[in-house]
Amino acid sequence: MTDGAWSATRPGLAPREVATHCPYCALQCGMTLREDDAGVTVHPRQFPTNRGGLCQKGWTAAELLDHPQRLTTPLVRDPATGELRPASWDTALDRVVAGIRAVQDDAGRDAVAVFGGGGLTNEKAYALGKFARIGLRTRNIDYNGRFCMSSAAAAGMRAFGIDRGLPFPLADLGRADTLLLVGANPAETMPPLVRWLTEQRRGGGKLIVVDPRVTATARQADLHLQPLPGTDLAVANALLHIALTEGWVDRAYVADRTTGFDAVRRSVAAWWPARAEQLSGVPVADLEATARALGTGGRVIILTARGAEQHAKGVDTVSAYVNLALALGLPGRDGSGYGCLTGQGNGQGGREHGQKADQLPGYRKIDDPAAREHVARVWGVPADELPGPGVPAYQLLDSLGTPGGPRALLVFGSNPVVSAPRAARIEGRLRDLDLLVVADLLLSETAALADVVLPTAQWAEEDGTMTNLEGRVLRRRALRPPPPGVRTDLAIISDLAARLATEGCAATDDCAPTDGCAATDDCAATDAAARFPADPGTVFAELRRASAGGAADYAGISWDRIDADDGVYWPCPTEDGPDTPRLFADRFATPDGRARFHPVDHRPAAEEVCATYPLHFTTGRVLAQYQSGTQTRRVAALRRAAPEAYVELHPDLAARLGIDDGDPVRVTSRRGELRAPARLSAGIRPDTVFAPFHYAGAGRANSVTNDAVDPICGMPEFKICAVRVEKA
Ligand code: SF4
Repeated sequence: MTDGAWSATRPGLAPREVATHCPYCALQCGMTLREDDAGVTVHPRQFPTNRGGLCQKGWTAAELLDHPQRLTTPLVRDPATGELRPASWDTALDRVVAGIRAVQDDAGRDAVAVFGGGGLTNEKAYALGKFARIGLRTRNIDYNGRFCMSSAAAAGMRAFGIDRGLPFPLADLGRADTLLLVGANPAETMPPLVRWLTEQRRGGGKLIVVDPRVTATARQADLHLQPLPGTDLAVANALLHIALTEGWVDRAYVADRTTGFDAVRRSVAAWWPARAEQLSGVPVADLEATARALGTGGRVIILTARGAEQHAKGVDTVSAYVNLALALGLPGRDGSGYGCLTGQGNGQGGREHGQKADQLPGYRKIDDPAAREHVARVWGVPADELPGPGVPAYQLLDSLGTPGGPRALLVFGSNPVVSAPRAARIEGRLRDLDLLVVADLLLSETAALADVVLPTAQWAEEDGTMTNLEGRVLRRRALRPPPPGVRTDLAIISDLAARLATEGCAATDDCAPTDGCAATDDCAATDAAARFPADPGTVFAELRRASAGGAADYAGISWDRIDADDGVYWPCPTEDGPDTPRLFADRFATPDGRARFHPVDHRPAAEEVCATYPLHFTTGRVLAQYQSGTQTRRVAALRRAAPEAYVELHPDLAARLGIDDGDPVRVTSRRGELRAPARLSAGIRPDTVFAPFHYAGAGRANSVTNDAVDPICGMPEFKICAVRVEKA
């Protein structure tokens, strides 16, 4: 167990500090944590990505360590009163195991599902996938990264044969002659990254931003294209059309390093600029200026983020920008390329080590016989015992409690009641379960619905690794142990595996599996606890073996090497060989080494505006909040800075609707409504309204969003649906 010597005040504590990284976004800014009698303080640290910068979220991250709302004991729902009540770990874990057994005995292994998160360390993501496949033996596992990274991941895989958000170091942004950001707002989502944009522009580079809103990032741009939400793909095709017409396509690169260009050339022939202007609202002159900057610049980088990716055509939209980058000969060229800005803290590593429905560690496919053999060997089980692929996150959540769907769910590091699209429906599905178990450090909106809540350690209380947006593997270091009553996710998984393994054991009624069992030398529980170690270093050593030979190969990455080198870029197959800061210099990760073009065409949003719902609705982030807000909504300074949801609308639209700044408004879609104060801004299109997605209750943006998903990757259409707006 991880219960340590800990007290809230820690009198007489010798000051100590550790070099670690921020708990929030994928920039994973370097920071130093110091602890003394007065508590824990955050100090910025020079690291190659943030260069000493932190945003407000990072500065205030330590406040949650001693937060009064922190969970420090398990909670179990009292069947008589329906209330969550404090319970011992034995009581809570017994309830979980009994519930799992009852559901699986009645409805089969797949009736238990697991839902992970893109904020979990690599070790946890790995252990969770392994626990689902050989502890629970269910195929039903997926994670909230499906809502974040899946479009770019799928497009990258099909074009390059590998999915690493940035295939080059972040520092390359500072050297770019032209930088195109599509649906990205780093000035609010990861402010220290803006230093690279400033450096780029100081060096004479051109920054072009594509976004339906005049965001803090767009305000810094040399050129801002403001398309209608859902038309980014058409904009990309028009840019390639212009590049072809003007002769800016790199014919030699296309011939030597790619396949499939002719089909793309034919498909973009129909996207003459005037047609794209008519659809997107982006003037022809701006399209031409953008294409010229991309086609005639020296070092050129194209980046996409959630604004372009969170659509039911997200994979095709990203593919359109990848096509543009390939046609211009950018990927693999020094200082140039295509990349996506990963969002969640471990959005990169979290999608590599097995918590995705179709995946095994090392970015292996679960339906690949060779991959199954390799991973099964590391796990010590026959390959045919590994379940097959499960279903993507929204499909999984929407099947909970339905006939044939899972009846029990274990949630680690996620809050789908706030973060899932069509959230009221998902909330209902969660309520229909026989058993909902949530491991979290705070009582999130999802935890509040659970039958059992398991209190978990925070980032400063456990060791592990994270993989940042550049594919650089970093060390997360513990400053102090978790408080009494709190366990790490790895310890919880280990405990659950041991208890589940005692099924059918008649040796003793009061088995203490992790301490061994006197009744038998051949104890399944002891074996299971050993198979699921709680020590992150041991888990990482196994992860390295499991990932060896895979696309995301961590075999040569040791914690010591990470310490010595400010992180290690995967793939890194051998301890004494090099890591890979830059991919694609000589070949792509496809069987023939060539990148693949994919012809893609614009299609309308899954839901178009109509007389009843005449406006477009889109969502995004604000600087002072993070994801579903479970943590940041409880930090005083962040709550003051961004206390509640709001609805941003253009003054002309507001005047037409009789709405003044600050008026309470109601945004209604076919799925539900959001109520929040109006915030008038000339920076948004008059046909579009915006709300941040960090808030729960009446201000929950995902009460409104559409649950249509991308047919390739399962990404929901968070970024556009049809609504009406009225004064509430
Ligand atoms: S939230 Fe992101 S940008 Fe802000 S300090 Fe943390 S890692 Fe850096």
